[in-house]
Amino acid sequence: MNNSLWITFLEQLGENKISKSESELYRHSRDESSHLFVEPDFVVFPENVEDVVKVLQLANEKEVAVTPFGAGSGLEGQSIPINKGISLNFDRMNKVIEFSPEDLMITVEPGITRLQLNEYVNRHGLYFPIDPGADASIGGMVATNASGTTAVRYGSMRDQVLDLEVVLANGNVIHTGSKAKKSSSGYHLNGLFTGSEGTLGVITKITVKLHGIPEKVLAARCTFQTPGECAEAAQVVLSSGIQVIRMELVDAESIKQVNEYGNYSFPEEHSLFFEFAGAPNIVEEEATVVEELMKELGCNNWERANSSKERADLWKARHEMAYAFKHIKGKVSTGSDSCVPISKLAEMVVFGRELLEESGLIGGVFGHVGDGNFHTLVMYDPNDPVEVNKAEYTNEQIALKAIKLGGTCTGEHGVGLGKMKYQVTEHGEAVELMKSMKTLMDPKGILNPGKMFY
Ligand SMILES: Cc1cc2nc3c(=O)[nH]c(=O)nc-3n(C[C@H](O)[C@H](O)[C@H](O)COP(=O)(O)OP(=O)(O)OC[C@H]3O[C@@H](n4cnc5c(N)ncnc54)[C@H](O)[C@@H]3O)c2cc1C
Repeated sequence: MNNSLWITFLEQLGENKISKSESELYRHSRDESSHLFVEPDFVVFPENVEDVVKVLQLANEKEVAVTPFGAGSGLEGQSIPINKGISLNFDRMNKVIEFSPEDLMITVEPGITRLQLNEYVNRHGLYFPIDPGADASIGGMVATNASGTTAVRYGSMRDQVLDLEVVLANGNVIHTGSKAKKSSSGYHLNGLFTGSEGTLGVITKITVKLHGIPEKVLAARCTFQTPGECAEAAQVVLSSGIQVIRMELVDAESIKQVNEYGNYSFPEEHSLFFEFAGAPNIVEEEATVVEELMKELGCNNWERANSSKERADLWKARHEMAYAFKHIKGKVSTGSDSCVPISKLAEMVVFGRELLEESGLIGGVFGHVGDGNFHTLVMYDPNDPVEVNKAEYTNEQIALKAIKLGGTCTGEHGVGLGKMKYQVTEHGEAVELMKSMKTLMDPKGILNPGKMFY
């Protein structure tokens, strides 16, 4: 980028909202994926929607790439500014705009994180349940249609978003929904912008649903001989109509890694972790029914987390799973997050485990099996081409099989750079429609260019 562009943005925004310090360029060159780092030319820290409008109007006029940046916890390179230009950081737009506990909704700026939002609403007996593990920004979570361990009960961000304020590539500001709990009015723009990964517009306000904190929460775990048996057992729980709030599969290798990493002592067998939540008598009853079902299916053991400390440890261990693998020296991680119809889950999980065994690489299978979404995590040496190929092959086979079985290459992490190659296989002709929409909304291609599709 030539220096006169930097000076133009500097003059328009003022020096405290723009930076090209080495540390900021480095921070905005990466996310939590293993995709190659690319530094932006500079970083802008907007403080309000007017700043965002100014940035986009200028960037559109000068044809400079703009890549929104939330907390940088993405796993597919979505916030890496591969065409350089501007990284738009939302750290300073993290305020609560309007809180309506009686309506069970809140309007926030995009930079507020999941934990900050919960800290704000918890004292009113409410919570925001979507939990991607990382302390992601709400803007980033909308942009990737994030979900996580509670998706089996609450769905994904798309199910929680009521309205978005979005600045389009030309600087125009629109709203995509309303504060009504449901609507049949117009096209579903909430759904379009949620999951658009910063390629269609920049989100500056978000209204989401809130939920009452359940009166009682109970966690339990059990183990089975094979990951396939775990997946089949998960399917039985779903068919029983019991509304678990979390149901996670963790294979024996993942348990072994997390035991070593966090000093836990979970049995190193293929496991299912459960959480039940609601009125105390119903929670007790549901846990008892699931215990009976699991025992009928031949689970090796069933153990309740009896104290809140034990429950917290169970979910802490689950959330540390990826980091447990990442501590292996000299290796980096890559992974898949396919999602399939629940009837195909056992087949997929077995396939994933077999691929890992064949590759000879260290890796685990774990995930949110309650909604057919699971992860394989593969550790490889980035300097060893044989290991790199094996890791890529494993990811590819899983994505392609999931699509073949009627599922998707990504249940929650998004497309970014890593899943672009599967878009035509998964969506066929619809990719051309998506490309036309992108051209219509961002004719100069300034918004997060080089992502989503080729
Ligand atoms: C250990 C670990 C576990 C994880 N587990 C899960 C999981 O279980 N489920 C899950 O869904 N994800 C998971 N993730 C991935 C990650 O947390 C999510 O993708 C999250 O939604 C990213 O949010 P972020 O704020 O970090 O966004 P970033 O990574 O900064 O950005 C993600 C995308 O959002 C866009 N974006 C950010 N802000 C805006 C905005 N205001 N307007 C428009 N676009 C914007 C960016 O341009 C980019 O395309 C995990 C990550 C880690 C590190």
